[in-house]
Amino acid sequence: MQHRKYKRAVVWFRTDLRIADNSALAAAVETADEVIPLFVLDRSILDRADTGLARVIFMLDALKHLDANLRSRGSRLFLRQGVAPDEAIRAVRELEADAVFFNRDYEAYARTRDDSFTREMKNHGVTVTAFDDYVLHDPGEVLTQAVGFYTVFTPYKRSWFERPVSQPVSAPTRIHSPNDILSADIPTAKDMGLSTLQHFECGGENAASALLSQFVAQSLQDYPEQRDVPGVAGTSHLSKHLHFGTISPRTIFSAVNGKSGSDVFLNEIAWRDFYVQVMYNFPHVEVGSFKRDLNNIEWTGGDSWFDAWVAGQTGYPIVDAAMRQLRDEAWMHNRCRMIVASFLTKDLLIDWRRGELYFMQMLVDGDKAANNGGWQWSAGTGTDAQPYFRIFNPVSQGEKFDPRGEYVRKYIPELAKVPDKYVHKPWLLSPTEQAYVGCRIGIDYPAPIVDHAVQRTAALALYKRAASISHQNTV
Ligand code: FAD
Repeated sequence: MQHRKYKRAVVWFRTDLRIADNSALAAAVETADEVIPLFVLDRSILDRADTGLARVIFMLDALKHLDANLRSRGSRLFLRQGVAPDEAIRAVRELEADAVFFNRDYEAYARTRDDSFTREMKNHGVTVTAFDDYVLHDPGEVLTQAVGFYTVFTPYKRSWFERPVSQPVSAPTRIHSPNDILSADIPTAKDMGLSTLQHFECGGENAASALLSQFVAQSLQDYPEQRDVPGVAGTSHLSKHLHFGTISPRTIFSAVNGKSGSDVFLNEIAWRDFYVQVMYNFPHVEVGSFKRDLNNIEWTGGDSWFDAWVAGQTGYPIVDAAMRQLRDEAWMHNRCRMIVASFLTKDLLIDWRRGELYFMQMLVDGDKAANNGGWQWSAGTGTDAQPYFRIFNPVSQGEKFDPRGEYVRKYIPELAKVPDKYVHKPWLLSPTEQAYVGCRIGIDYPAPIVDHAVQRTAALALYKRAASISHQNTV
């Protein structure tokens, strides 16, 4: 047998839970005699305040599928539990590997982890090779000639679309792994005592591929018209798979590119890359506003408003339906994410970071970069060129994007019999009409907890004051 460059390589899986088009796995199989796929169930991530139960459950299931796919190639997933990077370092030493391959993770926590892991490995003579597989174009790749990193999406996307994309690589047909290595079984959610009332589809790599095929066959063509209509299942629902890497962005690109509807769809994939590069190049966004002057906003909204927002009891149907969708399905339509985020910050005058954290706790697709980008876009504190005075009106947003009330009625049964004309403002029905349709305001369904027009003015004043305080401090 001809020996390869390395005797034994560890592939450290993280947010790339697939065997197809996985750069780290492909490189290890090509260059090492033996390959050991490793996953560290990291206690320090599991215990974090922003780690959502739905994501842990989805991930455990994806690990089970990854293990099955590896087994069908003659290997298996070696699982360790502990705190990374220590546990990964221990595993590599015990396994006596001479190389480690992984795909990069871009959150600040992960970068620190990977830096210290790589340093430690180098000290022990182990070669570490890292790849950019989480995004289509890595955060240092799309640059402006003049200033380096893009801070505005439109020019970023122009440059992003011009770049070549390589073809996805197939899953290895055979993976040679030693068969004498002990591994813990992959725990199920039940083993870990985890359960949730939220309903969402699990499934690993195979489910992701099936979902992509279904989306391309049934919805891609109509995506440009349907993507903004929350009452229609017009989007791909691939976000959780992209987050855990049960599908690669290259696979998605190659499946859609050139087809009708793909430009608008790929624009969203570009947003995903954009926010990763914002978080990577401007790490202060993980804790505060991209526009630093807007860190001074004196948020005045109280806990009772936050609780009403969480419970879907604000009295604004589109907001409440969306928040109930999040609670029940661990997912929310993009249009509604923008509406509820605008409502929390500009109507309830509550710090966007509280909403950002709640989303991370509830979303099955919770992704630090996309979530932070989405919240800062909505709060007007982010990279967006639009000024902070873009404030969504929850009634007109509902009327525009859910004109027949299909979406709101699905999540708010109290509105079932309210006529279309009033379904986004049921408080305008007379008391007799309310009684007739079974939606008595203040009894069956809440009255609006705030007056949008009043709050809009208050929000503008808050933002203006923050910007001027910061201006005074810099003069
Ligand atoms: P599709 O419309 O099918 O889009 C395809 C893919 O493109 C998505 O799967 C996603 O990976 C990416 N994408 C789409 N829109 C955006 C966007 N605006 N920003 C970045 N990537 C995008 N997305 C997350 O993946 N995780 C989050 O935690 C998250 N939080 C958000 C919070 C707020 C306040 C807002 C406004 C948006 C957030 N988004 C987040 C972006 C977007 O809402 C979701 O990606 C999308 O709804 C997922 O559904 P889909 O897969 O059917 O999307």
